[in-house]
Amino acid sequence: MRRKIIAGNWKMNKTPAEAVSLAEMLRDRVNTDNADVVFCVPAIDIIPVAEVVKGTNIAIGAENVHYEESGAYTGEISALMLKEAGVKYVIAGHSERREYFGETNTMVNKKVKKILEHGMIPIMCCGETLEQREMGITLEHIRIQIKKGLYGLTADDAEKVIIAYEPIWAIGTGKTATSGQAQEVCAAIRKTVEEIYGSKTAEKIRIQYGGSVNAKNAAELFSMPDIDGGLVGGASLKEEFEKIVNY
Ligand code: PEP
Repeated sequence: MRRKIIAGNWKMNKTPAEAVSLAEMLRDRVNTDNADVVFCVPAIDIIPVAEVVKGTNIAIGAENVHYEESGAYTGEISALMLKEAGVKYVIAGHSERREYFGETNTMVNKKVKKILEHGMIPIMCCGETLEQREMGITLEHIRIQIKKGLYGLTADDAEKVIIAYEPIWAIGTGKTATSGQAQEVCAAIRKTVEEIYGSKTAEKIRIQYGGSVNAKNAAELFSMPDIDGGLVGGASLKEEFEKIVNY
Protein backbone atom coordinates (compact mmCIF):
# COMPACT_ATOMS: atom_id res chain seq x y z
CA MET A 1 0.00 0.00 0.00
CA ARG A 2 1.55 3.29 -1.09
CA ARG A 3 1.31 6.18 1.35
CA LYS A 4 -0.18 9.32 -0.15
CA ILE A 5 2.04 12.38 -0.51
CA ILE A 6 0.67 15.88 -0.82
CA ALA A 7 3.10 18.67 -1.58
CA GLY A 8 2.45 22.38 -1.84
CA ASN A 9 4.46 24.28 -4.43
CA TRP A 10 4.57 27.89 -3.27
CA LYS A 11 6.38 29.01 -6.46
CA MET A 12 7.71 32.61 -6.31
CA ASN A 13 5.37 33.70 -3.51
CA LYS A 14 5.86 34.74 0.11
CA THR A 15 8.65 36.79 1.63
CA PRO A 16 10.38 35.15 4.62
CA ALA A 17 8.04 36.90 7.08
CA GLU A 18 4.96 35.96 5.04
CA ALA A 19 6.24 32.41 4.66
CA VAL A 20 6.55 32.03 8.43
CA SER A 21 2.94 33.19 8.94
CA LEU A 22 1.60 30.85 6.27
CA ALA A 23 3.63 27.90 7.54
CA GLU A 24 2.46 28.51 11.13
CA MET A 25 -1.17 28.67 10.01
CA LEU A 26 -0.92 25.46 7.96
CA ARG A 27 1.23 23.64 10.53
CA ASP A 28 -1.53 24.01 13.10
CA ARG A 29 -4.19 22.67 10.72
CA VAL A 30 -2.83 19.93 8.50
CA ASN A 31 -3.09 16.36 9.61
CA THR A 32 -0.06 14.24 8.75
CA ASP A 33 -1.49 10.94 10.03
CA ASN A 34 -2.61 9.62 6.66
CA ALA A 35 -0.31 11.31 4.17
CA ASP A 36 3.18 12.71 3.83
CA VAL A 37 2.92 16.50 3.72
CA VAL A 38 5.55 18.72 2.12
CA PHE A 39 5.90 22.49 1.82
CA CYS A 40 8.03 23.28 -1.26
CA VAL A 41 9.05 26.87 -0.63
CA PRO A 42 11.26 29.52 -2.26
CA ALA A 43 14.94 29.07 -1.40
CA ILE A 44 15.11 32.08 0.89
CA ASP A 45 12.16 30.77 2.92
CA ILE A 46 13.60 27.30 3.53
CA ILE A 47 15.45 28.03 6.76
CA PRO A 48 12.70 30.04 8.51
CA VAL A 49 9.95 27.62 7.41
CA ALA A 50 12.05 24.61 8.52
CA GLU A 51 12.18 26.24 11.95
CA VAL A 52 8.38 26.60 12.00
CA VAL A 53 7.73 22.93 11.22
CA LYS A 54 10.51 21.55 13.42
CA GLY A 55 9.21 18.70 15.56
CA THR A 56 6.24 18.01 13.25
CA ASN A 57 5.93 15.49 10.42
CA ILE A 58 5.72 18.21 7.80
CA ALA A 59 8.72 18.07 5.47
CA ILE A 60 10.42 20.89 3.62
CA GLY A 61 10.89 20.83 -0.13
CA ALA A 62 12.92 23.03 -2.45
CA GLU A 63 11.61 24.19 -5.82
CA ASN A 64 14.87 23.78 -7.70
CA VAL A 65 18.53 22.78 -7.40
CA HIS A 66 21.63 22.91 -9.58
CA TYR A 67 22.97 19.60 -10.84
CA GLU A 68 26.65 20.37 -10.22
CA GLU A 69 28.16 19.82 -6.79
CA SER A 70 29.50 23.38 -6.38
CA GLY A 71 31.37 26.04 -8.30
CA ALA A 72 31.02 29.07 -10.52
CA TYR A 73 27.24 29.03 -11.06
CA THR A 74 26.19 32.47 -9.90
CA GLY A 75 22.73 32.56 -8.44
CA GLU A 76 22.32 28.81 -8.17
CA ILE A 77 21.84 26.60 -5.11
CA SER A 78 23.50 23.23 -4.56
CA ALA A 79 22.03 20.00 -3.24
CA LEU A 80 24.45 20.10 -0.31
CA MET A 81 23.20 23.57 0.68
CA LEU A 82 19.59 22.39 0.54
CA LYS A 83 20.32 19.26 2.52
CA GLU A 84 22.07 21.20 5.27
CA ALA A 85 19.17 23.67 5.44
CA GLY A 86 16.79 20.81 6.24
CA VAL A 87 15.32 20.00 2.84
CA LYS A 88 13.94 16.49 2.24
CA TYR A 89 12.27 16.83 -1.17
CA VAL A 90 13.34 18.76 -4.27
CA ILE A 91 11.18 19.50 -7.31
CA ALA A 92 12.97 18.78 -10.60
CA GLY A 93 11.69 19.67 -14.05
CA HIS A 94 8.59 21.65 -13.15
CA SER A 95 7.00 22.79 -16.43
CA GLU A 96 7.56 26.44 -15.48
CA ARG A 97 11.30 25.76 -15.22
CA ARG A 98 11.25 23.85 -18.48
CA GLU A 99 9.36 26.65 -20.23
CA TYR A 100 10.97 29.78 -18.78
CA PHE A 101 14.46 28.55 -17.90
CA GLY A 102 15.15 26.02 -20.62
CA GLU A 103 15.33 22.99 -18.36
CA THR A 104 15.70 19.91 -20.55
CA ASN A 105 15.15 16.22 -19.83
CA THR A 106 18.92 15.80 -19.68
CA MET A 107 19.21 18.52 -17.03
CA VAL A 108 16.28 17.03 -15.12
CA ASN A 109 18.03 13.65 -15.14
CA LYS A 110 21.23 15.20 -13.75
CA LYS A 111 19.24 17.01 -11.06
CA VAL A 112 17.40 13.83 -10.07
CA LYS A 113 20.75 12.04 -9.68
CA LYS A 114 22.28 14.88 -7.66
CA ILE A 115 19.25 15.08 -5.35
CA LEU A 116 19.42 11.33 -4.68
CA GLU A 117 23.21 11.45 -4.20
CA HIS A 118 22.61 13.82 -1.29
CA GLY A 119 19.95 11.64 0.29
CA MET A 120 16.98 13.79 -0.69
CA ILE A 121 13.90 12.80 -2.69
CA PRO A 122 13.23 14.22 -6.15
CA ILE A 123 9.72 15.21 -7.16
CA MET A 124 10.21 14.79 -10.90
CA CYS A 125 7.57 16.56 -12.97
CA CYS A 126 6.24 15.64 -16.38
CA GLY A 127 3.28 16.77 -18.42
CA GLU A 128 1.98 17.57 -21.86
CA THR A 129 0.90 20.83 -23.49
CA LEU A 130 -2.66 21.30 -24.73
CA GLU A 131 -1.34 21.02 -28.28
CA GLN A 132 0.29 17.66 -27.55
CA ARG A 133 -2.95 16.41 -25.96
CA GLU A 134 -4.97 17.55 -28.98
CA MET A 135 -2.49 15.88 -31.33
CA GLY A 136 -2.92 12.61 -29.42
CA ILE A 137 0.76 12.34 -28.42
CA THR A 138 0.38 12.78 -24.65
CA LEU A 139 1.50 9.29 -23.68
CA GLU A 140 4.44 9.25 -26.09
CA HIS A 141 5.64 12.59 -24.73
CA ILE A 142 5.29 11.51 -21.10
CA ARG A 143 7.07 8.20 -21.73
CA ILE A 144 10.07 10.08 -23.12
CA GLN A 145 10.13 12.46 -20.15
CA ILE A 146 10.03 9.52 -17.73
CA LYS A 147 12.63 7.43 -19.54
CA LYS A 148 15.04 10.35 -19.93
CA GLY A 149 14.42 11.64 -16.41
CA LEU A 150 15.11 8.26 -14.78
CA TYR A 151 17.92 7.28 -17.17
CA GLY A 152 20.81 5.54 -15.44
CA LEU A 153 19.10 5.21 -12.04
CA THR A 154 19.16 1.87 -10.24
CA ALA A 155 15.82 0.32 -9.29
CA ASP A 156 16.57 1.13 -5.64
CA ASP A 157 16.97 4.80 -6.49
CA ALA A 158 14.07 4.91 -8.95
CA GLU A 159 11.58 3.68 -6.36
CA LYS A 160 12.43 6.65 -4.12
CA VAL A 161 11.55 9.19 -6.81
CA ILE A 162 8.14 10.86 -6.67
CA ILE A 163 6.76 11.47 -10.16
CA ALA A 164 4.36 14.38 -10.53
CA TYR A 165 2.11 14.25 -13.57
CA GLU A 166 1.11 17.81 -14.32
CA PRO A 167 -0.66 18.54 -17.60
CA ILE A 168 0.59 22.01 -18.51
CA TRP A 169 -2.86 23.13 -19.63
CA ALA A 170 -4.15 22.45 -16.10
CA ILE A 171 -1.48 24.34 -14.14
CA GLY A 172 -2.78 27.55 -12.65
CA THR A 173 -5.66 27.67 -15.11
CA GLY A 174 -8.48 26.34 -12.94
CA LYS A 175 -8.95 23.62 -15.60
CA THR A 176 -8.38 20.31 -13.84
CA ALA A 177 -7.85 17.09 -15.74
CA THR A 178 -10.77 14.74 -15.18
CA SER A 179 -10.00 11.90 -12.81
CA GLY A 180 -10.17 9.59 -15.85
CA GLN A 181 -7.63 11.62 -17.83
CA ALA A 182 -5.28 11.87 -14.85
CA GLN A 183 -5.59 8.16 -14.05
CA GLU A 184 -4.91 7.18 -17.67
CA VAL A 185 -1.61 9.04 -17.74
CA CYS A 186 -0.56 8.02 -14.22
CA ALA A 187 -1.22 4.37 -15.12
CA ALA A 188 0.89 4.81 -18.27
CA ILE A 189 3.70 6.29 -16.16
CA ARG A 190 3.59 3.27 -13.84
CA LYS A 191 3.64 0.98 -16.87
CA THR A 192 6.70 2.79 -18.21
CA VAL A 193 8.45 2.35 -14.86
CA GLU A 194 7.51 -1.33 -14.96
CA GLU A 195 9.04 -1.72 -18.42
CA ILE A 196 12.31 -0.25 -17.19
CA TYR A 197 12.56 -1.68 -13.67
CA GLY A 198 9.95 -4.41 -13.28
CA SER A 199 6.75 -4.66 -11.32
CA LYS A 200 8.22 -4.38 -7.81
CA THR A 201 9.57 -0.89 -8.48
CA ALA A 202 6.45 0.11 -10.40
CA GLU A 203 4.24 -0.90 -7.48
CA LYS A 204 6.34 1.12 -5.05
CA ILE A 205 6.92 4.35 -6.93
CA ARG A 206 4.56 7.17 -5.97
CA ILE A 207 2.87 9.26 -8.65
CA GLN A 208 1.19 12.57 -7.91
CA TYR A 209 -1.29 14.50 -9.99
CA GLY A 210 -0.90 18.28 -10.21
CA GLY A 211 -2.91 20.92 -12.04
CA SER A 212 -5.55 23.06 -10.34
CA VAL A 213 -6.08 20.61 -7.48
CA ASN A 214 -8.49 22.11 -4.96
CA ALA A 215 -10.58 21.11 -1.96
CA LYS A 216 -13.46 20.06 -4.22
CA ASN A 217 -11.64 17.79 -6.67
CA ALA A 218 -8.88 16.32 -4.45
CA ALA A 219 -10.86 13.38 -3.08
CA GLU A 220 -11.89 12.09 -6.49
CA LEU A 221 -8.44 12.53 -8.03
CA PHE A 222 -6.59 10.98 -5.10
CA SER A 223 -8.92 7.97 -5.01
CA MET A 224 -7.78 6.84 -8.46
CA PRO A 225 -5.71 3.64 -8.28
CA ASP A 226 -2.51 5.08 -9.76
CA ILE A 227 -2.66 8.55 -8.16
CA ASP A 228 -0.79 8.70 -4.87
CA GLY A 229 -1.42 12.31 -3.92
CA GLY A 230 -0.89 15.71 -5.42
CA LEU A 231 1.44 18.57 -6.19
CA VAL A 232 -0.59 21.66 -5.41
CA GLY A 233 0.22 25.21 -6.53
CA GLY A 234 -2.29 27.99 -5.93
CA ALA A 235 -4.33 26.19 -3.28
CA SER A 236 -1.23 25.46 -1.19
CA LEU A 237 -1.00 29.15 -0.27
CA LYS A 238 -4.37 29.14 1.47
CA GLU A 239 -6.26 27.46 4.29
CA GLU A 240 -7.72 25.28 1.54
CA PHE A 241 -4.49 23.24 1.60
CA GLU A 242 -5.66 21.76 4.90
CA LYS A 243 -8.81 20.43 3.22
CA ILE A 244 -6.76 18.96 0.36
CA VAL A 245 -4.47 17.15 2.79
CA ASN A 246 -7.42 15.95 4.85
CA TYR A 247 -9.43 15.04 1.77
C1 PEP B 1 2.01 23.47 -9.75
O1 PEP B 1 2.55 24.55 -9.63
O2 PEP B 1 2.70 22.46 -9.72
C2 PEP B 1 0.56 23.42 -9.87
C3 PEP B 1 -0.01 22.28 -10.08
O3 PEP B 1 -0.14 24.62 -9.78
P1 PEP B 1 -1.72 24.80 -9.62
O4 PEP B 1 -2.18 23.86 -8.53
O5 PEP B 1 -1.90 26.23 -9.23
O6 PEP B 1 -2.35 24.46 -10.92
